[in-house]
Amino acid sequence: MTQANIGVVGLAVMGSNLARNLASREGNTVAIYNRSVERTNLLMSEHPEAGFIASETIDEFVASLAKPRTAIIMVQAGKGTDAVISQLAERFEPGDIIVDGGNALFTDTIRREKDVSAKGINFVGAGISGGEEGALKGPSIMPGGSAEAYKTLGPILASIAAVAEGEPCVTHIGTDGAGHFIKMIHNGIEYADMQLIAEAYDILRQAGGYSPAEVAAIFEEWNKGDLESFLIEITAEVLKQVDAKTGKPLVDVILDQAGSKGTGVWTVQTALNLGTPVSGIAEAVFARSLSSQASQRAAVDGLPADATKWNITDRSAFVEDVRRALYASKLVAYSQGFDAIRAGAKEYNWNIDLGAVSKIWRGGCIIRAQFLNRIADAYKTNANLESLIFDPYFKQAVANSVASWRTVVANASLSGVPVPAFASSLSYYDGLRSPRLPAALVQGQRDFFGAHTYKRIDLEGTFHTLWSGDRTEVEQAPSTH
Ligand code: NAP
Repeated sequence: MTQANIGVVGLAVMGSNLARNLASREGNTVAIYNRSVERTNLLMSEHPEAGFIASETIDEFVASLAKPRTAIIMVQAGKGTDAVISQLAERFEPGDIIVDGGNALFTDTIRREKDVSAKGINFVGAGISGGEEGALKGPSIMPGGSAEAYKTLGPILASIAAVAEGEPCVTHIGTDGAGHFIKMIHNGIEYADMQLIAEAYDILRQAGGYSPAEVAAIFEEWNKGDLESFLIEITAEVLKQVDAKTGKPLVDVILDQAGSKGTGVWTVQTALNLGTPVSGIAEAVFARSLSSQASQRAAVDGLPADATKWNITDRSAFVEDVRRALYASKLVAYSQGFDAIRAGAKEYNWNIDLGAVSKIWRGGCIIRAQFLNRIADAYKTNANLESLIFDPYFKQAVANSVASWRTVVANASLSGVPVPAFASSLSYYDGLRSPRLPAALVQGQRDFFGAHTYKRIDLEGTFHTLWSGDRTEVEQAPSTH
């Protein structure tokens, strides 16, 4: 009996497309299995050309795989994934490879890798981005797990990944949960990028008076320059779409409450734990939350705006200001995302090549963009770059944009257009470049009410002030280290 070199468990949107992608590549024979047989039968009947080996039971599926067995799980993240892992781990042998291609939380992946590898079975958490189309035609793939497992898995993943400038969009990210960690950050950056584009649209529309079709044309123009990206491209398409039912721009009949599946929240929670400011991503997550506060928003009834009209005298300069503000804010979002990767790598002992990460995001995934070549160049020049903003190219880009950035944030605020991600990105930038921050005052407050101590700029050691009454002596506190 012919055996498959790779199997896929879970044949909903992602799994069925990934299985078809695998089957379309030279040398692959693909085994498939889904908990309910209907999905398997549908895939078999719709795609006989794929030559799948279909199984109705997990035992049959495992028997249909050549050794070392390699199976990619594409089922609902969480309990579904745990259930399938345990079914496979019971049947697999040492040296076999279980890949979780779903959107798992990286700490779950760390736990699962520990459990599965204790049996001698390889476990690889692989982030897969690109949605349905990416899964079918070539996603960006972010695998973690052992280097040993990657030797077998790498060529298979490389054969189905997107290709950017001749290179497959896959690299071994690091051990255990590193791949899912990177996928999580990818999604966090995606949230920020989408929110920033939405804010640019809102300014152009509300302050500039442009119609959705006109904003689409502006975005199409922007897509020819530094901002060239999948998200800008599809935004123009969305804005051009006319609703068949009403004849209005579709964007005007879509309910303005943004949903989410939780990966943005994970990114922010993780960054909070790591102590890394990802304010652009956090604002994007909060902006979706605010949009979905339906009952609050319905109850506002006449909250005062006291806004003034944005006095636009030169329309092309206005559009260019918005473009530059978008570019600078986007740079902050990516820079913060990469900072979170550096912090995560340090915390979890991963050796992550940031340049390689930016390269595998150039194709297949949702944040694919020209811009990522620049990020790869920045890390190639200096692998230990403290912040992307310090790279000479990006430093110059911000220098070219900062006046526009301030103009846009200030005028949006005066005219009452909400720009949480633009504004927080600019504040982050100002915070980063400030030689002196009011954190000194915060330290004083902390020492006042909690004797939390502080350090001085002119003396070594830790200090506490006796604040009560008129006593202002300073004493050296016992070192807490
Ligand atoms: P999904 O809707 O997340 O999950 C449905 C699949 O999970 C079905 O095959 C279902 O089997 C299976 N399943 C659920 N619980 C199970 C259990 N206890 N035991 C066995 N199978 C179980 O599918 P999806 O949208 O294709 O996504 C698959 C994975 O890829 C998810 O982790 C998702 O987060 C991730 N992902 C999705 C996208 C996307 O654009 N959709 C993009 C990137 C990553 P039945 O048919 O028997 O119910």
